[in-house]
Amino acid sequence: MTPQSPLQTRTRGSLDLSDLPNCSSRERTEARQLHHRLEDEIGCVDLIVTDNRRRMLTTRSRDERREIRLHHMFLGCSEEVVEAIAELAIGDESRREVIERYVRENRNAIRFQPSEDELQWEGEHFDLRTVLRAVLDFTHDTIEDVDDTLDDISITWGRDGRGTKSIRFGSYDFDQKLIRVHPALDQQWVPRYFVEFIVYHELLHAICPPAEPDEDVTDDDGRRHVHTAEFLEYERAFPRYEEAMAWESEHLERILNRD
Ligand SMILES: [Zn+2]
Repeated sequence: MTPQSPLQTRTRGSLDLSDLPNCSSRERTEARQLHHRLEDEIGCVDLIVTDNRRRMLTTRSRDERREIRLHHMFLGCSEEVVEAIAELAIGDESRREVIERYVRENRNAIRFQPSEDELQWEGEHFDLRTVLRAVLDFTHDTIEDVDDTLDDISITWGRDGRGTKSIRFGSYDFDQKLIRVHPALDQQWVPRYFVEFIVYHELLHAICPPAEPDEDVTDDDGRRHVHTAEFLEYERAFPRYEEAMAWESEHLERILNRD
């Protein structure tokens, strides 16, 4: 018989970790500890730990229960932060800045690296990692002050979205630091320099991010897509820029109508 600790006899809220199917046992422990500490402060708490990269912390009350949804970056946070969260959950905003500072300082936890087996860089005709390496060499030679921005960028062939009238050859995911290249470019008749140009374009998005990273600036195809003057200048520095642009307009139709 195990004696019951005072904590176990209390009415407790729930702890939901379903958003983190692969979390470690350490994270589980930290989540339980955080849950306990929050309940010590304000009573029954339903705690939901999320991987939501847009909303770091939301709270609401239902009867006597407090529901707190927070990003897993808060696991293992300091006592000061726990208290600020607890206060916020009962409507006291006075220490909101403690939370905001914590989020700023731990923003890296929001970026998760895609695991290697999710990435597919080997195509039938192009190995995207080889392409990326060549483009990185060129980029570092051409653009100053790139620093370590590009160090942990990954690349993969994207999914094939056939049947659409427009096509995006590449995209850059800021959260994952991941370049996706459209698989329609993995064809023998597509010149290597064009694939390099697409990868270079997406790298430039990492180098010239939108002023407000959370602000969605949408273009015609409804995605965040920002090309500043600086961006366009760098883009024109690509050695075969004119050729790449010409190739694209000449072959767009063929790529769109591929079978
Ligand atoms: Zn772009």
